[in-house]
Amino acid sequence: MKYIASCSFGKDSLAQIIVAKEHGEPIDAVIYSEVMFTDQISGEFPEHRDFIYNVAIPKLKELYGLNTIVLRSDKTMWDDFHTVRVRGSTMGLLRGFPIPGLCNINRDCKIPPIRKYLSEQDGEFIQYVGIAADEPKRLKRLEGTNKVSILAKYGITEKDAMDICERAGLLSPIYKITGRNGCFFCPNASKRELQHIYYNHPDLWNILRTLQETNNTSRRCFTRTQTIHELEEEFLEEERNIYDDYRYNNCGIDDIFVDPISGEVMQSIVTDRGEVIEVPYLI
Ligand code: SF4
Repeated sequence: MKYIASCSFGKDSLAQIIVAKEHGEPIDAVIYSEVMFTDQISGEFPEHRDFIYNVAIPKLKELYGLNTIVLRSDKTMWDDFHTVRVRGSTMGLLRGFPIPGLCNINRDCKIPPIRKYLSEQDGEFIQYVGIAADEPKRLKRLEGTNKVSILAKYGITEKDAMDICERAGLLSPIYKITGRNGCFFCPNASKRELQHIYYNHPDLWNILRTLQETNNTSRRCFTRTQTIHELEEEFLEEERNIYDDYRYNNCGIDDIFVDPISGEVMQSIVTDRGEVIEVPYLI
């Protein structure tokens, strides 16, 4: 029997590996399926990708002797976007941005290389999946399969998983930006995540803008209700309001800026004791 740990390098799948090793559970391979935005650009948030390659993969090797097998689909988000629809009322148009709630990217880019890798294994195997003990609906789906949750076996909750990764120095910086771990171009992304890309990764945002300007796509919006341009306008309007407010209430505020890590709008203020501190800017 072979034991294969699927790992996205989020808190749950990494905690699962740590817990497995602490309890002497066998792991023969760690597999990671990387969704690609284009042939050259990862679909991960850049901070998470850096963590994966520069921290997590080397540390799994150093601490536990585990090698990580990186899997990639032939298909990228760029390919998916430019796929011509062959059925329905949008036949002949490009697929465009993934549809919120009906995203193809998992199906087309993330899962196929995992399926291929598993199908190439000789003999039986157990697949470890990072589902926490307090995720009953997801755990229920494992019944009758060869997938096992090590976190459930040892009663580890999502909060525990976060703490375990933090203690091990294996908590991705993605959790300073968002509570979840997904593609930077996700149509379900929160405004905060999108602002993070807009302010901190203008190169990626510009590519999204280019995609938005593509003709003949079946979807106008990037999120459920807004295009990339409409999102930009909203962010710029917010900036304008902040500076108008600053001009109107200029009383002890020294600087208003966007935190380069979190994307949050901050202000530096002078306290009664004359200290300069940075706090979230509240409109
Ligand atoms: S994170 Fe978002 S874009 Fe990526 S596969 Fe999931 S739903 Fe799709």
